[in-house]
Amino acid sequence: HMHNCIQELRGNIRVFVRTRPFLPGDEQDKNSPINITPDGESMSIIDRRSGKPLNFHFDKVFLPSAGQETVFQEVSDFVQSALDGYNVCLFSYGQTGSGKTHTMQGCGNGPMRGIIPRAVEQVLAQANNLSTQKWAFTLSASFLEIYNEGLKDLLVSIHSGQNSIHGQKLSIKRDNESKMFVQGLTTVPIDTTSSSEAKRQLEALMMVAAQSRSVASTKMNSQSSRSHSIFMMQLKGFNEDTGASVCGALNLCDLAGSERLDRSEANFDSARLKETQSINKSLSCLGVVFNSLAIGASHIPYRNSKLTYLLQDCLSGDGKALMFVNLSPTTESSGESLCSLRFAQRVN
Ligand code: ADP
Ligand code: MG
Repeated sequence: HMHNCIQELRGNIRVFVRTRPFLPGDEQDKNSPINITPDGESMSIIDRRSGKPLNFHFDKVFLPSAGQETVFQEVSDFVQSALDGYNVCLFSYGQTGSGKTHTMQGCGNGPMRGIIPRAVEQVLAQANNLSTQKWAFTLSASFLEIYNEGLKDLLVSIHSGQNSIHGQKLSIKRDNESKMFVQGLTTVPIDTTSSSEAKRQLEALMMVAAQSRSVASTKMNSQSSRSHSIFMMQLKGFNEDTGASVCGALNLCDLAGSERLDRSEANFDSARLKETQSINKSLSCLGVVFNSLAIGASHIPYRNSKLTYLLQDCLSGDGKALMFVNLSPTTESSGESLCSLRFAQRVN
């Protein structure tokens, strides 16, 4: 309990670890170096160099068998607090193939759907429930990608020419209420008076985003693993009885693969090298920000990367952030897994 108190004081960033199950394509050896304690808060990983297990403690450590529903149950309070007016951010961090996209987006509209569609459902249902207490919510959604420290609007084809600036660079600004926003980004209003219409709108929006990501990935092979994608929802509520108002934000962020640069490969391709360095820049800056917050530093270098600059409202003050560390269960990945765990350990 003492430990929890200290964490509370240091900030609102929590860490959940999710190890995916073995998949048919994994190596033959099914003895994972990862061991999770029954209380679901600690784990160990065998260090390949010493052969000894290294122990870690986090807010939550899921078993590989934990499904999408189980995982969402643990984040639904976070999603709820966006409706209460908080700036909320969920990240998924880990090497390519560890389950980041599975966690955030998941698959289809059935039981394999991930946090984004489930969060949207919860927000719509809650906004509807709160209307009985005279709360009226205005919701809007955006979807963007950060690639090579540049911003890309994934919904640009929805309202092209309206509130998005075609071909012009997007930029991160602070509005007159001192909140961060992206100037020129397409913002799609969601009709909350009809939940079926809202659901249809959001599904259509997801298709557009998926389409613009896949167009990009054919241009540059598997670009998506090297870019950060952020689904953003603005939630504004007004109470017709009391006149009270709230303004929250929900950001769901599928980070670029955390794997280190293979130098031999990158040396042959300077564009690739630049790309890897700027991806590392956003991720390493995120680590520095986490660390600075954890030690209570007076200066937090949010401005050093697009990712941290954009999401600083969630990382500072009464913002709420939760990072999933996604791990692959294989021995082959144990080096990368250990790096990811050490990255996350800097948070608290
Ligand atoms: P990343 O986005 O980190 O590169 P993915 O989410 O694409 O990784 O996951 C890699 C593969 O593993 C995909 O085929 C995905 O469906 C599968 N996968 C990831 N996590 C799980 C899980 N918890 N249960 C079942 N399959 C999973
Ligand atoms: Mg992915």
